[in-house]
Amino acid sequence: MTNLTAPRFTDADAAREHLEALHWPNGPVCPHCGGVDVKRLPAQRGKPSKKNPEGAIRNGVIQCNACRQQFTVTVNTVFSDSKVPLNKWLLAVHLLTSSKKGVSAHQLHRMLGVTYKTAWFMAHRIREAMIPEGNEPPMGSGGGTVEVDETFIGRVPGNSRMAIHNMNKVISLVDRTTGRATSVVFTGNFSHKSVGPILAQHMAKDAKLMTDEAHHYKTIGAAYAGHDFVNHAKKEYVRKGDATIHTNTIEGFFGIFKRGMRGIYQHCGSQHLQRYLREFDFRYTYRSANGIEDDQRAEIALKGIAGKRLTYRRIGAVAA
Ligand SMILES: [Zn+2]
Repeated sequence: MTNLTAPRFTDADAAREHLEALHWPNGPVCPHCGGVDVKRLPAQRGKPSKKNPEGAIRNGVIQCNACRQQFTVTVNTVFSDSKVPLNKWLLAVHLLTSSKKGVSAHQLHRMLGVTYKTAWFMAHRIREAMIPEGNEPPMGSGGGTVEVDETFIGRVPGNSRMAIHNMNKVISLVDRTTGRATSVVFTGNFSHKSVGPILAQHMAKDAKLMTDEAHHYKTIGAAYAGHDFVNHAKKEYVRKGDATIHTNTIEGFFGIFKRGMRGIYQHCGSQHLQRYLREFDFRYTYRSANGIEDDQRAEIALKGIAGKRLTYRRIGAVAA
């Protein structure tokens, strides 16, 4: 269990030191020029404001001796330009990464003592930190098995009737070997022409595809090292005589995702769905069953805050 009264959750300086140790294991690195010859400056005064006519005190400012620019550990991260104390950021990251079904902005707002609007933005920035680096090998690399399935969630705006064709579509992949999950909001029709490219983007050619009996997977499956499926329409959930043929892993992932979306994020708009999927993918990929404890999972997200700020506004539904 993580101790939520640990200094990094209650004290901004302790939080900063925690982040510095994670990001700069060998000492500060200048984000502007990569220089390591740096000097720590005494506490600085920020810009004067109504609340702080003399300017708020800024600790943790470092000056680069090579390019002479100043920086802190949060420059160019999803925490940049935030007035929220760093210890509250770390607490928010801990809560979002350790709660199985997620944490609503309302809950964060009450727990952190920030406004609802601030809590909402914090949560979305933290989801940004959960985006994979992009240098992971495709799923199923090395002959692994990848389970793929579709699900429907929430209602597309402008449609008053709750019917399957008015719902958001999601395609998810789970790599059985690494335990990694990747989910994509999907706007096309379920055909091999629209689903095929999504799998091609995320899945290795030498992987084995595992699906249900849906027709489009039969064509898509030919592009991979193998394809097996169970016939859910005939109530076949595990192939008789071959216990490896099933899609129970991805069904389990959808179960967690749906419980979270219904219980915590029921007001999530379609335009934000892909961000919530990132969160569920992240927690699933780094779940305790994969040998990752709460503190480690939070650290992975905290390492992911760097290099993400610029893409913050760009996430949206991925069109097929
Ligand atoms: Zn520099």
